[in-house]
Amino acid sequence: MNTPLGTPELRSRFEEVFGAAPDGVWQAPGRVNLIGEHTDYNEGFVLPFAIDRAARVAVRLRPDSTLRMLSTFGNQGMTTADAAALDPATARGWTKYPLGVLWALEQRGLAVPGLDLLLDSDVPRGAGLSSSHAIECAIILAVNELTGAGLSEQDMVLATQRAENDFVGAPTGIMDQSASLRGAAGRAVFLDCRDQSVRLVPFDAEAAGLVLLVIDTKVSHSHAGGGYAARRASCELGADVLGVRALRDVGVGDLEEAAGLLDAETFRRVRHVVTENERVLQAVELLESTGPQATGPLLDASHASMRDDFEISCPELNLAVDTARAGGAIGARMTGGGFGGSAIALTPAGAEQRVRTDVVRAFERAGYAAPDIFRVRPAAGALRLA
Ligand code: ADP
Ligand code: MG
Repeated sequence: MNTPLGTPELRSRFEEVFGAAPDGVWQAPGRVNLIGEHTDYNEGFVLPFAIDRAARVAVRLRPDSTLRMLSTFGNQGMTTADAAALDPATARGWTKYPLGVLWALEQRGLAVPGLDLLLDSDVPRGAGLSSSHAIECAIILAVNELTGAGLSEQDMVLATQRAENDFVGAPTGIMDQSASLRGAAGRAVFLDCRDQSVRLVPFDAEAAGLVLLVIDTKVSHSHAGGGYAARRASCELGADVLGVRALRDVGVGDLEEAAGLLDAETFRRVRHVVTENERVLQAVELLESTGPQATGPLLDASHASMRDDFEISCPELNLAVDTARAGGAIGARMTGGGFGGSAIALTPAGAEQRVRTDVVRAFERAGYAAPDIFRVRPAAGALRLA
């Protein structure tokens, strides 16, 4: 992980690179999904939160249509492009995220300006914490303010989705950017993916003597893409056979009847989505009435459902979850799309060290690559820093 630059350092780096001060600095966080997996495209519920790791962009409007983009990560050098000729077919590397946002805004009819842009991010890449949406949200906030486009949060959610779906080519929903744009310190974002309404729910693990650990397994199994598409297809089939618009409309009480109508595999896929929606609602209720310490069993049940019914876990994730729990975590689950990526473990502060050590040792014994383990806390959503 790279240590993030402070705002003054980012500004002075920008000046060194581009020869003038930026017009401003914006930041947007990554996110962790506390619970509610594969429910988004079934028009269901999710409960992510914005984390204390973010993408920051220093940006200056240019008088022409030139785009100059540089990241502090890696040594890929400066990328240049033309805002008047944005094209999904030619965009390469990380700049497809900023270019995708500009393209989506152009599709909405906005006159897209030329920009100088310096990115610095401490959201781990490809760990399922949505480093890509962090970049997109920081940029859309910057462009919205600098051009006076007057986009609402909702407009920004939809434009970043368009950027990911139609420019980057990733079939993502609205969860990640909703958490990044609308999150708040000590809060989780309860999002209804049908009407896209949001309610902030108290989630202050540390005040309850808990820490939320992310265990990045560093693995990404090759069938991830195909597996995701197959799960979506199963959900569509299930909704079709059951005669509903989306699995959101199936309740836990309907499952018995559904078992008689669906083939065994489709039924298990449906049961995951239906029970997962119910778990999100229960988690929200418990967070509002009791506190984070009450949610452990729901996290455990969510993992079991993804492992056994949705079948999107993998040996590394199962080992991380089981070991964290045995070491004292009060609840743990894989998070994200599955077939690799990260697990989360809600852990009493006093057990943190043991969980870390046990997981590292268990991975070593199993012959797996060393995992990355770090704390996250619910933090502010996207904002202007300078
Ligand atoms: P996730 O969003 O889960 O982290 P993605 O594959 O959607 O995974 O996005 C990861 C990509 O985002 C990286 O491959 C890279 O192109 C880009 N990215 C993330 N952070 C940075 C950064 N600091 N500098 C340059 N590119 C970055
Ligand atoms: Mg992403």
